[in-house]
Amino acid sequence: MSDIQEYFCPSLRDMAPYSPIEPPDQIAKRLKLPEEEIIKLDANENPYGTAPHVLEALSRGKYYHIYPDPAQVELREAIGQYAGVDPEMVVGGTGADELIDLACRLLIEPGDKVLTFTPTFSYYSHLVTLNKGIFQTCPREPDFSISLEKVKQLDLSGVKLVFLCSPNNPSGNLLEEEILDYFLAQSVIVCVDEAYYEFSRCSFVGKLKKHNNLIILRTFSKCFGLAGLRVGYGLMSRELAAAMMRIKPPYSVNVAAEVALRTCLKYLDSYEQQVVTMIETREWFQEQLAQFSGLNPFPSHSNYILVKATGLEAKEIWKQLEQQGILVRYFNTPQLNSCFRISIGRREQMERLLKALQELLSP
Ligand SMILES: *Cc1c(COP(=O)(O)O)cnc(C)c1O
Repeated sequence: MSDIQEYFCPSLRDMAPYSPIEPPDQIAKRLKLPEEEIIKLDANENPYGTAPHVLEALSRGKYYHIYPDPAQVELREAIGQYAGVDPEMVVGGTGADELIDLACRLLIEPGDKVLTFTPTFSYYSHLVTLNKGIFQTCPREPDFSISLEKVKQLDLSGVKLVFLCSPNNPSGNLLEEEILDYFLAQSVIVCVDEAYYEFSRCSFVGKLKKHNNLIILRTFSKCFGLAGLRVGYGLMSRELAAAMMRIKPPYSVNVAAEVALRTCLKYLDSYEQQVVTMIETREWFQEQLAQFSGLNPFPSHSNYILVKATGLEAKEIWKQLEQQGILVRYFNTPQLNSCFRISIGRREQMERLLKALQELLSP
């Protein structure tokens, strides 16, 4: 076959890959550093590692040779109880990412529009494109809030789905209730991504009672430390959940992930303690960052802080930190010019980062 590319869907031929995150062992090898010295603050993962109670439950699992339950009966019950909704309003998936994909697959026909407010989580645009929708963006204000006045002027014709993120990744601010209420009153499906709900402790789940056009996404990847096991969920009206259950791949939540998440939900107190510590660390670190004349940290309701570098370029800071094995996420889009995002790690990790920053930039 001469040009196999001609067979690819035109809309996907030149699609950029989702920016990958390098695994820590490969980074260590590339940087010629011991793996234990890598401080991974680039993907908002749980810095305490896999909890011993999870490891122990996984080792006791008996059913890894059996397919998972495609109806997710026990999983939906356990998550429903945690989230305070009926099990019929829960859909589990291979990470919240799969729920984003399912929402796109369920709702988008070629040419339908999907609206979001940038900067935000970049995987939405990737999946909208993959599902042949048209991605429409509206810029956030300088403080990353969404202006109701501007929202009211938007032409929503052809828009099927709106993605909102609270707290927003990467900026850390919460979604304004008035913005959500505005969209819920329109003829659109509204998807609110609450991947960091455990850190913000703010949820719009109560609105599911009145609104059948709302989808709330959550995950076990961040606070609960199961990013590598891939499990997330959506909370939504019974009609939407039934439709998603119909179209989802039958075995998307694997048996190990289910064992792990059910164990997490039994040990909520231990995660609550981690969250309290991480919020204290975040507040302390925020104050430290504010001492630097060349750094402008944004306030955060999550387990990360977005920082704008005004002296030395963010790219240079990111590169220099990487040389020392400290990984942060660097952005350079027009809206996130010279910015980087730091995940909140353990206190001693943040102290090492602080020292590295002090050597790079004088406070
Ligand atoms: C990490 C993240 C997700 C993806 O979560 P998974 O459950 O790991 O797929 C979704 N949304 C936002 C905003 C995130 O930051």
